[in-house]
Amino acid sequence: LSKTERKIIEASIRDIKDFPKPGIVFKDITTLLNDHKAYGVLMNHLYQRYKEYNLDFIAGIDARGFIFGAALAQMLGLGFVPIRKKGKLPYTTISEKYSLEYGVDEVEVHIDAFSAVPNAKVLVIDDLIATGGTANAAATLVNQTGATCVEACFIIGLSFLDGIKKLEEKTTVYSLIEV
Ligand code: AMP
Repeated sequence: LSKTERKIIEASIRDIKDFPKPGIVFKDITTLLNDHKAYGVLMNHLYQRYKEYNLDFIAGIDARGFIFGAALAQMLGLGFVPIRKKGKLPYTTISEKYSLEYGVDEVEVHIDAFSAVPNAKVLVIDDLIATGGTANAAATLVNQTGATCVEACFIIGLSFLDGIKKLEEKTTVYSLIEV
């Protein structure tokens, strides 16, 4: 990512203070999506990076990971797999719980999501990594299906939390913008 490209992407992301609760600075990527040039610079960068990876699938995390993941999958000529919050997928699923600040959450994937390619190589993508709990559970799910999560990609990495470090024990991590 060149300096200019990073600047264009960074400038298109909006900080919303105290959302969804006091003390959180929410990174709003709707302004990036709304900016055709910035979204294009981002998607082109991801395409250039991942066309060399010989991936079989892109798996996007519910919900903002779908927007980047589905677009990237089309650009690369690959299938897209949604990793969803519990209770949304209609067919047989496997699921993985992970802990939040208060309580637990759960993500699911269809059991046959990667079955079209034996030992499929999968990129997991989301807009942002904070504690890494969600992405960790997503990578675990991919690996449980018999596929392999070869990398996890994020537009934004919150490096003041140790989410990236923890996830690096499981897979390679790529984040474009470190905050
Ligand atoms: P975590 O599991 O803690 O890494 O949280 C990552 C998930 O929560 C991602 O799906 C993000 O979209 C969302 N998220 C967490 N923190 C923020 C934030 N500060 N701004 C925007 N999204 C966030």
